[in-house]
Amino acid sequence: MTGGPITVAGVTIEPGERRDLAPLASESYTGDRATLPMAVINGAEDGARVFVTAAIHGDELNGIEVCRRLLDLLDPAALRGSIVVVPIVNVLGVQFGSRYLPDRRDLNRSFPGSHGGSMAARIARLVTEEVITGSDAGIDLHTAANHRTNVPQVRIADDERALELAITFGAPFVMHAPLRAGSLRAVALDLGVPVLTFEGGQPLRFDEDVIDVALRGILRVLARLDMVDGAPEPAATDPMVLEASRWLRAERGGVLELHVGAGDLVQAGQPLWTTTSPLGAERASVAAETEGYIIGATTLPLVQPGQALLHVALPGETIPSEDDPTDEVDEDDPDVPDTDD
Ligand SMILES: [Zn+2]
Repeated sequence: MTGGPITVAGVTIEPGERRDLAPLASESYTGDRATLPMAVINGAEDGARVFVTAAIHGDELNGIEVCRRLLDLLDPAALRGSIVVVPIVNVLGVQFGSRYLPDRRDLNRSFPGSHGGSMAARIARLVTEEVITGSDAGIDLHTAANHRTNVPQVRIADDERALELAITFGAPFVMHAPLRAGSLRAVALDLGVPVLTFEGGQPLRFDEDVIDVALRGILRVLARLDMVDGAPEPAATDPMVLEASRWLRAERGGVLELHVGAGDLVQAGQPLWTTTSPLGAERASVAAETEGYIIGATTLPLVQPGQALLHVALPGETIPSEDDPTDEVDEDDPDVPDTDD
């Protein structure tokens, strides 16, 4: 069935048309207009509405490249339904490679936002009203935070639609992750929109494998929603669905030698890391207490006590660990961001 026109940020996009928009999001310190570039593709035929967002944290760049390649592939004439792609949500943070906005606010704790609030609130408001509202599903692209890397994984709320799409996406892991107040994912779910939070790679880098997993995953989701034809084959193995995770932290400071890598399945008793002093004396040797998948890891070669080193997901465990570093992080201090999404 032929689709109808849609309106985004005051601009009407006819069926079979792509429009690139740049609505006003906020203003910079210099008083310049800060706009939020986005592409709106209204398919020739009727169908679902999906959004893809990236770089809500301004140093998480993989998703920007995923969006660029996705836009290159999408043909308005062949699309059923509509897609809004926002490659850089944190348009101010990305200017200087920062996770945060210039006032150190976390954009992903600022949803749904408001017209008269902070820069973060104004950008969030624009995304909430013009991008999220009215969508059938969304995909929000992230990487690990500072000095860490993540295995490609999809994080979802406890929502049947999100679980189905997350499995379709086909990243190696699907994790039930608690909703954080003010996050895009939480506010979207309040609006009835299931969101897949994709995590993969590290900040300020493009990782070709991660970009490939994300791009294929998005195309599979679009095919599942009957929006495109000819999506990549399903992933070779079904994603491992994980219920809970915890960060393992260093007890001693020093030079770190990791014995496992991101993506590994470790067994109870398996050596995880050794810490030595710079003069060579062994300080600590730590083994796994339980079986688990390493879904994230530090990229720093030196550690200090209390530093999160390995993010381990526990198959079958249903109670989130008390050791979740997100509980203790000072969200205002950009030097200790222990949350990724
Ligand atoms: Zn992030």
